[in-house]
Amino acid sequence: MPLDLVFKLPNYPITKLQILIRVQTLKPEFRIGYGWDSHEFKPGIPLKIGGVTLAHDQGLGGHSDGDVLLHAITDALLGAIAGPDIGALFPPSDPQWKNADSAVFLREALRRVKTAGYELVNLDSTLILSAPKIGPHADAIRTRVAELCGIPAACVGIKAKTPEGMGTDKAAIANVVVLLKAR
Ligand SMILES: [Zn+2]
Repeated sequence: MPLDLVFKLPNYPITKLQILIRVQTLKPEFRIGYGWDSHEFKPGIPLKIGGVTLAHDQGLGGHSDGDVLLHAITDALLGAIAGPDIGALFPPSDPQWKNADSAVFLREALRRVKTAGYELVNLDSTLILSAPKIGPHADAIRTRVAELCGIPAACVGIKAKTPEGMGTDKAAIANVVVLLKAR
């Protein structure tokens, strides 16, 4: 039907309710997000993973406090709402983010998720690093990440692998997926 005919039909003014229904139809009920990050081990700095400081002779260098897991979670959340990535929001070249607590980045991503009309349901992660062993610290990391994200610890997956055959022994890598649902 030609467009002008549609608008000439009697009783066809688009009501606010119709607009609301249309907007709600366009907004997906669920969204997934994926984040990936890597940082290089450097001697003489604290090792922070998932907001927890782990005893180790090396830490992760680079952007902010180098918390590879919080960075990947932040990017997964931002990706789920098709937002700008962590590097765009918090450029490593900006001196104000030097040694910054990565929880600041995560909080901003969660704020944007809420503004977009979503909430975090659960997240799953896989860390890839040669040392230290994550198993003994997994519960502490899970508890802290859950606290930072405002979800139950039972909704936070923390897994770790060693980089067999990957040649990435000097780095820590984090992969994260998140599920959001409409609020
Ligand atoms: Zn990072």
